[in-house]
Amino acid sequence: MTCEDARLNMHDYISGELGAEHHKPLMDHMDECPNCREFFRQTQRIQTTMKDFMQYEAPFELQTAVSSILANA
Ligand SMILES: [Zn+2]
Repeated sequence: MTCEDARLNMHDYISGELGAEHHKPLMDHMDECPNCREFFRQTQRIQTTMKDFMQYEAPFELQTAVSSILANA
């Protein structure tokens, strides 16, 4: 697996779309390749941050709380 292949696979892996048969080659590549390991770590962190951010945007309780504060202001 080349670094390019590994990086393409990482996005699918993190989003859960990578077929199980591709997991091992990807993990094997990252064992051998510190650059891809670091890239994977950063990609994973960005995706986790994005997910937290989306969850933060969504909560209904917060919107309700804000609306009632504004209504009582
Ligand atoms: Zn690599």
